[in-house]
Amino acid sequence: MTDFPHELLVNVPSSIFLTGGCEVVVRLQHKDDIARLRAAYGQRLHHVVIHEKELGDIAWLSELLGLRVEIVLGDGDTLSNDAVEVLNTMQPLFRLDTPVGLFRNINLLASLGYPVMVNAFDGNHGMEPVTRALSYYLHNPLLNTPIEPFHSIMRHFLGNGPDTLWSIFGEVVGRNAYVSELGEISVAQRWILTGLCFGTLNDTWEKLVASGLYRRLVRIRDGNSASAPPCVSCPHRDTCGGFLRGVNVEWPCEVWQKIFADLRNQGRQVMGLTEWLTKGGCNA
Ligand code: SF4
Repeated sequence: MTDFPHELLVNVPSSIFLTGGCEVVVRLQHKDDIARLRAAYGQRLHHVVIHEKELGDIAWLSELLGLRVEIVLGDGDTLSNDAVEVLNTMQPLFRLDTPVGLFRNINLLASLGYPVMVNAFDGNHGMEPVTRALSYYLHNPLLNTPIEPFHSIMRHFLGNGPDTLWSIFGEVVGRNAYVSELGEISVAQRWILTGLCFGTLNDTWEKLVASGLYRRLVRIRDGNSASAPPCVSCPHRDTCGGFLRGVNVEWPCEVWQKIFADLRNQGRQVMGLTEWLTKGGCNA
């Protein structure tokens, strides 16, 4: 089995146990033995991932107490009062993987004070759900919880956040890795779904880093290559870094270019206001 180095954060299904020193994110199955998982991984367990449907089993959910929990949400209909009560003891992060019901879910989760990660849906789903989410993030005066990736992008523009979408979405080659249920390894699931892997768990780490895909991702990470021709002249390359067209050069990223522009403008306004206040505001 691959011996991942300790600096790696590896996303792995609960059916596969990873030896070695790397940190792990474990994708749980309902009714997995949580005590056994904690004992097996100890301090190496970074966080666990569950799906919305598991929120209905309050007894099992309660066993996750003390762990960081990422919840992949569908339509949000199973978020009962009992589940909220347990989740309030856990500091969960909700990942919204579908634009269906996106705005309603963000509204609900933000009102409960939960941080939210909106996935990078492409323009084929229409701009409306994502732009409404952005508007909510920018203009809701009562919002007191981060809505990602908008929050990190804004921090980036203000000079105080992660570099690009690669780090915001946890796809940094040399830091993040993803193991499929079949033992295929890549930097994240979206690459595996299109058949792009470093190799499998039967390979050594040295063999994986020598793969063509790994070396291509290193070149992108180090700024030596853009993943797609349109990225070379894109005004948002400093924020996106070619992430959106990383897997598919035809990916329709126009929706997100508009989002980057809106956030950049908002960031400029904040910076301008801060500068003005620093100089004494009305009393200058
Ligand atoms: S927004 Fe699109 S064109 Fe611009 S860097 Fe990202 S993927 Fe490339």
